[in-house]
Amino acid sequence: MNPDYDLIVVGGGPAGSTAATVVAMRGHRVLLLERETFPRYQIGESLLPATVHGVCQILGVADEVAKAGFTLKRGGTLRWGRDPEPWQFSFSMTPRLPEPTATAFQVERSRFDEILLRNAGRAGVEIREGSPVRRVLPDGERVRGVEYTDPDGTVRTAYAPHVIDASGNTSRIHGQVGGTRVYSDFFRNLAVFGYYEGGQRLPEPNSGNIFCAAFDAGWIWYIPLRPDLTSVGAVISPEHIPAVQRDPRAAWQDMIRACPDVDRLLTGVPVATDPPYDRVRVRKDYSYWKKSFWTPGMALVGDAACFVDPVLSSGVHLATYGALLAARAVNAALDGSVPESRGFAEFEARYRREYAVFYEFLIAFYDMEQAEESYFWAAKKVTKVDLGEAAAFAELAGGLVSGDRAVVGPEQLGDHWRAAAAELDGAVGRLAAADDRVNPLLSARVVGETFRTGNDLQEQALYGGPLDDPAPTAPDSLAVTADGLSWTPA
Ligand code: FAD
Repeated sequence: MNPDYDLIVVGGGPAGSTAATVVAMRGHRVLLLERETFPRYQIGESLLPATVHGVCQILGVADEVAKAGFTLKRGGTLRWGRDPEPWQFSFSMTPRLPEPTATAFQVERSRFDEILLRNAGRAGVEIREGSPVRRVLPDGERVRGVEYTDPDGTVRTAYAPHVIDASGNTSRIHGQVGGTRVYSDFFRNLAVFGYYEGGQRLPEPNSGNIFCAAFDAGWIWYIPLRPDLTSVGAVISPEHIPAVQRDPRAAWQDMIRACPDVDRLLTGVPVATDPPYDRVRVRKDYSYWKKSFWTPGMALVGDAACFVDPVLSSGVHLATYGALLAARAVNAALDGSVPESRGFAEFEARYRREYAVFYEFLIAFYDMEQAEESYFWAAKKVTKVDLGEAAAFAELAGGLVSGDRAVVGPEQLGDHWRAAAAELDGAVGRLAAADDRVNPLLSARVVGETFRTGNDLQEQALYGGPLDDPAPTAPDSLAVTADGLSWTPA
C-alpha cells in the first residue's frame, strides 16, 4: 500500500508542532491531526531558555515568539529551603551563552501553542483540526497509520511509515508503545490552579520571574502572564483530593490563604472572570513514564511519553526536546542516512537521559525544604523514595544518568540522591554571598546536568552545534547535523 504521508503526528501542542515542523523542513510530507480547534487552553506556562532560544530558533519561530508580547522571564524566585527569605536564580548565571539568550517567557499557552502550530503550517505541514485520532493501525510488527474522525464526523484513515504520538496526557494511543504508564509515587501530587486579574509583581529586574513558595501543605506557583493576569496554582498531596473534589475553587483559595508569601501579593486583587481563565482546574496523576518510547513505526513524545513535576518548568522543554529527537530519527530514516532502529535508539537514549536528569534534580530540590512537621514535606525527603520507585527509575535511566558515576541498581540510588541533595542545599546556601559572575548553583552536579542539554540546544541553534562535545549516550552514539534537524553517523 502506498502511504499517503511520510509522517503522521497526533496532537498539535508544542511536542506535535515541533516534530511536524522539523520533518516538514526537510521537505517531507507531514499530516498533523489535532482533536481541538486552536486556540485551546493548556497549563504549563513557564518556559525555559532552551525552548525559547533553542528549539524555537531551530523551528524558525523564535522572532515571532519574541514579538508576541509575552512576559520576559529572567529566572526564578523561591521561598524554598532553609532560608525563610525568598532567594533568586537568574538564567544569566548559566555559562557561555550570550546574555540576551539567557531568558525565557511566561506564556499564555493558547497563544504560544497556536504560534507554533501555524508555523508548522507555514513549513508545509498539513494540519487538520477538530480531528481526533481514535486508534492506530498496526500491521504485523509495525504501526502503519491512524484512524481519525474528521470535523463532519466521518471516520477516516491515513497511512505513513512513521507515526508520532504527541497527544499529551490524555493520549488514547500511547498503549501501543511500551505498555502501561509507570506512575511515580514520590511525585504523586495534586495540582489545583486558577487565575487572578493581576497581582503584585516582584521588584525589577525580577518582575517576570516565576515565584514558587513552599508552605505547610505543599507549594504554590505564581506566574505573571500579563499585567492583568496571574496564574496561581497549588501543588499539594493527594490527601486533599476529597476537599478539592467537593469545591475546587474554595480549596484553591484556602491554599492561597495558607501561604502568606503568595497571599500578600494578591491582596484586593479579583479572580479572573473571562474564559478560559474563569475556571479553577485540577490535575492529578501527572508524573509517569513509559517503559519504552518507541516501537517500529511509532514514537511517543511530550506528555504522551512522560512528565515529572511542575516545579522546574520542565514540561514544555522535555516535550519539545523529545519531539526534536524523534523528528531527527524520522528524517534520518527517510533519507536513508541512518537506519531507523539506530536513529530511534538514539532518540530514546537521549530522551530518557534528559527525563532522568530532571527527575534526579527534582528529588534533590524537594529534599531542600525543611518543614519537617508537615505531612507533604516529610514525604518529600530523599529517604522517603521507596525501593520500588528506585528500581523503576534505575530501569528507566539504565546507567545513563550520572556520567562517570554510572548508576547500576536501585540500592545505590539512595546514597546517590542523598549526596545530590546535600550538594544542592550547600550550593543554594552559598547563593546569597556569590557575586554575579560565579553561580554556585552550577557547582552542584544535578544543576550542571540539568542545564547541559539546554545549553547544547541553544548552541546548536546559534552556532550549528554544541561548543563542547556532548557526552555520548553510548559508545556508538550518533551526532547531530549542523541544521539540528537530523542524525548523522558520528
Ligand atoms: P499538550 O500540550 O497537552 O498537547 C497535546 C495536544 O494533543 C492537545 O492539543 C490535544 O488537544 C491533542 N490531542 C489529544 N488527544 C488527541 C487525539 N486523540 N487526536 C488528536 N489530537 C489529540 N510545563 C512547563 O514547561 N512549565 C510549567 O510551568 C508547567 N506547569 C505545569 C503545571 C501542571 C499542574 C502540570 C500538570 C503540568 C505543567 N507543565 C508545565 C507541563 C506541560 O503542561 C506539559 O508538559 C506540556 O503541555 C506537554 O506538551 P505536549 O505537546 O506533549 O502536550
